[in-house]
Amino acid sequence: MRDLLNKIKTDVTERLAAVSSEDELEKLRVETLGKKGTLTQVLRGMGALSSEERPVIGQLANDIRSYIEKEMANKKEALAKSALENKLRAEKIDVTAPGTTVRVGKRHPIDQVEQTLCDIFTSMGFEIAEGPEVEYDTYNFQKLNIPENHPARDTQDTFYINERILLRSQTSPVQVRVMEKQRPPIRIISPGRVYRSDAVDATHSPVFHQLEGLVVDKGITMSDLKGMLTAFAKQMFGENTKIRFRPHHFPFTEPSAEVDVSCFVCGGKGCRVCKNEGWIEILGSGMVHPNVLRGCDIDPKIYSGFAFGMGIERIVMIKYAIDDMRLLYENDLRFLEQF
Ligand SMILES: [Zn+2]
Repeated sequence: MRDLLNKIKTDVTERLAAVSSEDELEKLRVETLGKKGTLTQVLRGMGALSSEERPVIGQLANDIRSYIEKEMANKKEALAKSALENKLRAEKIDVTAPGTTVRVGKRHPIDQVEQTLCDIFTSMGFEIAEGPEVEYDTYNFQKLNIPENHPARDTQDTFYINERILLRSQTSPVQVRVMEKQRPPIRIISPGRVYRSDAVDATHSPVFHQLEGLVVDKGITMSDLKGMLTAFAKQMFGENTKIRFRPHHFPFTEPSAEVDVSCFVCGGKGCRVCKNEGWIEILGSGMVHPNVLRGCDIDPKIYSGFAFGMGIERIVMIKYAIDDMRLLYENDLRFLEQF
């Protein structure tokens, strides 16, 4: 029996060394110290021993029992400690590790420039007016002094829904809509999308954006237009920018002028951006034609006004020296992320 006890001690010690989890430890405890455990079985057999042997073997059995219990308790503590260490190691946060980059989108260059234009003009007291992109022929052409068969209809050929309805070829119909509803003084800008049946190339697109402005009041003259556009050009292109008026023809303004700004890249000496001209054409303008005012029930003998309009893509292309308009519509992130 002494040998059996010593064997249990050796076995348990060996197996204990190999235990790596609390489950394994519990299994070993039940197999050794449980009701049917090996050591428990031996202790039960003590009754068969002689009275001399019983205390000696009993002492040995108790010693082995407390030895095993103590070793198991130590093992249990060691397992708990290493489990905690593993958990801490697994949950450790490396505060020096690089973070996950969140991709932030940004506004399209056309939208950015449109916003800048709106900011400049609203700071001068203009209100923003909007109108439908699907428009009546009357508003897009006739009320703007462009009757049927007028040659201006050819240069502004657009998409027709039917004989009376079309996709607006300019933002100017918004001027008429405002003048029909509102009495002077009127001071509005109308940014928006316009359509022309143009083939796509480096400077044309069937869909593009314009920004139009209109001022109607008593005593408005061409010098008001010139002063206002000079202030605008300085804010948009820099303090040293000059403007130049060139006579032109538009059906809805009289007199009409195309407006150039001095090149903000070379200052007028000539460069790639201004095509060695020193000047860059940016918009069309003029004094509102009396016929247009009359058509909106505004008496041209009492009121006068000026109007101007520009292509937003054109401004974007000048500002960022982009030589192909198609880049603005291709949505290539390598291009768009530069702005
Ligand atoms: Zn230049």
